[in-house]
Amino acid sequence: MLSQAPAAPDPTGSPTPAAPRTNTPGGPIRCVSIDVEEYFQIEAAHQTVGREHWDDWPSRVRRNMDLLLDLFDRTGCRATFFFLGSVAERHPDLARRCVDLGHEVASHGSMHDRLHRLTPETMRQDVTGCKRLLEDQTGGAVLGYRSPSWSLTRDTAWGVEVLAEAGFKYDASVYPVRHPAYGVPEAPDRPYYLCGVEGGARILEVPPLTWRVMSRNLPVAGGGYFRLLPKSLMMRGLSQAAAQGRPGVLYFHRWEFDPDMPRLPLNLTGRVRTYTGLRSARAGLEKVLRSFDGWSTIGGRLNEIERLAESAGVFTLRRRAAA
Ligand SMILES: [Zn+2]
Repeated sequence: MLSQAPAAPDPTGSPTPAAPRTNTPGGPIRCVSIDVEEYFQIEAAHQTVGREHWDDWPSRVRRNMDLLLDLFDRTGCRATFFFLGSVAERHPDLARRCVDLGHEVASHGSMHDRLHRLTPETMRQDVTGCKRLLEDQTGGAVLGYRSPSWSLTRDTAWGVEVLAEAGFKYDASVYPVRHPAYGVPEAPDRPYYLCGVEGGARILEVPPLTWRVMSRNLPVAGGGYFRLLPKSLMMRGLSQAAAQGRPGVLYFHRWEFDPDMPRLPLNLTGRVRTYTGLRSARAGLEKVLRSFDGWSTIGGRLNEIERLAESAGVFTLRRRAAA
């Protein structure tokens, strides 16, 4: 488990840095997570901005990380940062800085390929390379993984074996919602043990927040839903999760707090999903953070999350094919 370092002085010079409002054991588990990737590495641009053109676009990671770290410092929030390996490679001090400020560093893989485009062998290279890099940079164990674009699904069930072999303690990739590009709507909405195939290796799964309404899980954990829909939906989801003893795990992308980033050649759907609500995202996140107490890293509450998973049991993505 990553240790929680004391908060660093506030780089903006605002009055007094907030003390970490970390949860007391037994209290509601609330975690914010940030996927640390460049604005031009998003899935919506996969067809129009290929990897060979990434160097053509200016990096915006550094300035937005400052903005987020400052927000977390002012609100006493400790967060989990899922770093993309290619970003950590180009900005080798960022992961260490997060750890020094009391945050957790986890893995978002190396190159932001949806698992559907990988094989077990290429995924193994992708995740082990990123894990090793982040551990070298931070000097601590990387416990968690989140797949690009929630791409650990029934179609990529083989990925669970790869993650378990690579030594991850938890995965945070399975969104228990119905969506054309991702999601496993039948998966539990609380921590559980995930198996790819019956009898295979298992890993602790920490799903993002959903709001249960009329027998459906609504995706209220962050991302485009957060920017496009009223913030009150996320708050209702957090309240319901606490009342039901479920963790409330939120997710955001670093670029969502950067309204001035260069615009990519996206189709209309991509433009709406990517560029709507950017200007109000920071104030919206701050409002949510200040409305609830006890924001901690996922790793910081992992023992309690494991105990919840033990009572929830095992969920298997695929049945083993008949011999
Ligand atoms: Zn991502």
